[in-house]
Amino acid sequence: MTRRVVTGNSDLIRQLNRSLVLDVIRRQGPVSRAEVRRVTGLNFTTVTNAVADLIADDLVKEVGLGTSSGGRKPVLLTLNPTARYVLGCELQSAKLVIGLFDLAGNLVGRVQKPKCPRTSPDEAVARIAEGVREVLAAAGVSAEKVEGLGVAAPGPLDAESGVLLTPPNMVGWQNVPLRQLLEEATGLPVMLEKDGNAAAAGEVWFGAGKAVRNLILIIVDDGIGAGIVIGGQLYRGKGGAGEIGHGTLDLDGPRCSCGNHGCLEALASGFALGRKAAELIRRGVNSQLADLAESGIGTEHILAAAEAGDKLAADLLDECGRMLGIAVANTVNMYNPELIVLAGRLAQRSPIVLERALQLGRARAFPVLSNQVRIVRSGLGDDFLVRGAASLILARLFRGPVNLFPS
Ligand SMILES: [Zn+2]
Repeated sequence: MTRRVVTGNSDLIRQLNRSLVLDVIRRQGPVSRAEVRRVTGLNFTTVTNAVADLIADDLVKEVGLGTSSGGRKPVLLTLNPTARYVLGCELQSAKLVIGLFDLAGNLVGRVQKPKCPRTSPDEAVARIAEGVREVLAAAGVSAEKVEGLGVAAPGPLDAESGVLLTPPNMVGWQNVPLRQLLEEATGLPVMLEKDGNAAAAGEVWFGAGKAVRNLILIIVDDGIGAGIVIGGQLYRGKGGAGEIGHGTLDLDGPRCSCGNHGCLEALASGFALGRKAAELIRRGVNSQLADLAESGIGTEHILAAAEAGDKLAADLLDECGRMLGIAVANTVNMYNPELIVLAGRLAQRSPIVLERALQLGRARAFPVLSNQVRIVRSGLGDDFLVRGAASLILARLFRGPVNLFPS
């Protein structure tokens, strides 16, 4: 499928109207044309033409008659959720997952491919293209029915130009034109977004953020990052907004991968906890992680050890939760959001981290603002980034080519 190119003002307005009508039918269907006119404020001809267009594209179906308000019974319209599909890809230093979703957001296929920090851009692109072919074949979906591929990748990146700039922990990835490479390899339209932003988009589309206009999502995993939605729009700044993991919490703290000292990420990320665990074990602290101290202690090991009752792991997670709580409180004060979503393995799977973060996040924020915010953990599971990536394409289809998340 070719990318829809907007060539002029009337074309743009036609596309926006089409998205507007389609979104109302998605959210409120089965719904009559008259109701679509009432909700959108569009006139008779515009709605009639847009619906005819959508039916011709198989995106909308007529499904029987509604109740009459005097005259003829109106024909009801509904979304055809399997008319098209969207793909989401989570690309991380050591993880590569591709998911296929229908237009109602149901996961209809998933494939995980090998990926390590040394996987080159060419190899990764080839594996994503292979994964796309596999997941489509397994689900029996032809590529012509795919609306696009959304990719959630580590920053910093330029979402506009689709270029991955200098992702830490990915060897040999500098200024990679990932969108172009993936469009060539898959033949699909591709959208690239920083992982935190994609995850925030996923919460708006699928999760706790539905109908929320101001939300911050914080990912607490091997690294720490955030996505920001302000006034219903993703906020990217000049491209790099959301680097909450590199806010300084301890002026003289440990050195961070960014070159600074005492960043949240250097104190509370999975990588940081692993380093700290190994150091404490070398100094004689008892732990069931001792055997791993030389080969490397990862996020997964710490979560498993804490669950098995290991005191060192539990203490480290407690400290992670405390640091995260301060970051949450600072975020509440800075942005006054309605919602903060905590995602990533440390926040989603450790009750200790979550409890501490909620407690301190509220206690240390400005009281009035603290009372206005809901703080929750993501309910989208391990694949929250795959969903977030797919939601970028859904948002473009249903919300139009100009704004990702208009009200
Ligand atoms: Zn840093």
